[in-house]
Amino acid sequence: MQRIKHLAITGGTHGNELTGVHLLKHWRNNPEEICRDSFTTELHLANPKANQCNRRYLDEDLNRQFGWDDLNDHALCGYEQNRAKSLNTLLGPKDDPRVDFVLDLHTTTANMGVTLVIKTDDPFLVGMAFYVKQKMPEVTLFFEPAERMADNFLVSLGRHFGLLVEVGPVPQGLLRWDAYENTRQATLHCLDYVQQVNETGELPELPEVQSGFHFVRKVNLPENERGELTAMVHPNLQDADYQPIKPGEPLFMSLDGKAIPFDSDRTLYGAFINEAAYYDRHIGLSLMEPVEIKLNRTGR
Ligand SMILES: [Zn+2]
Repeated sequence: MQRIKHLAITGGTHGNELTGVHLLKHWRNNPEEICRDSFTTELHLANPKANQCNRRYLDEDLNRQFGWDDLNDHALCGYEQNRAKSLNTLLGPKDDPRVDFVLDLHTTTANMGVTLVIKTDDPFLVGMAFYVKQKMPEVTLFFEPAERMADNFLVSLGRHFGLLVEVGPVPQGLLRWDAYENTRQATLHCLDYVQQVNETGELPELPEVQSGFHFVRKVNLPENERGELTAMVHPNLQDADYQPIKPGEPLFMSLDGKAIPFDSDRTLYGAFINEAAYYDRHIGLSLMEPVEIKLNRTGR
């Protein structure tokens, strides 16, 4: 198994997600906590201006700007589009990156606990997520395989597809100890895993399969012909991420208190329920389906 030599931890990719921002500050003051002798770890505040302004982004969502074509399109020159190009220079370039692996720290306002987003079936990354779940059984795994060069997330910049750590519930623009500490623990487990794989040249003892979720679709909040919201997430669903939603069960509640049912032919599971960051696009929640994630040890 190929050794990891350079790892980058990024935070504040969304400027008002303060957990990652403050973990970076903590680790700058306490580098021994993230120091492992078989690789180097660098810390990068991904979107400093948005963080200064306590906003998710200034012009565009930074975590959608890392597709190969967009990185090479110089007509795209908003703040985040330029910032993505700088990060590509700093950590990449994406087609032959200096950095082997990016760990990107996020928070959500939804009640999702610790969620790890796995974007490849590469056993190195799947093994990392399984390792964290072994240490923190309450962790939820998202499995969203994508093609690294085309993918537009920051974690696609490294030589290997990196890991996105998403922790909630945390309101935007503030810190909560539980989320901060869970993110810290999950990150340190990731570093321990890399150290172990580097040392032994193989994956540690891990389950062959773990259950997780796979994205199906987003559901928009109901709006009128003027594009104004006419309903909100139903109280039964609030904070009920990863619970089943059956067809016909209430999904939204209108401003005048009428339940709006889930129009579907099958049971699905909610995630990012009432996520504040998605109100700019009037998205109420994501729908997920359960999936078995396999650790394919012979895959490389
Ligand atoms: Zn985020």
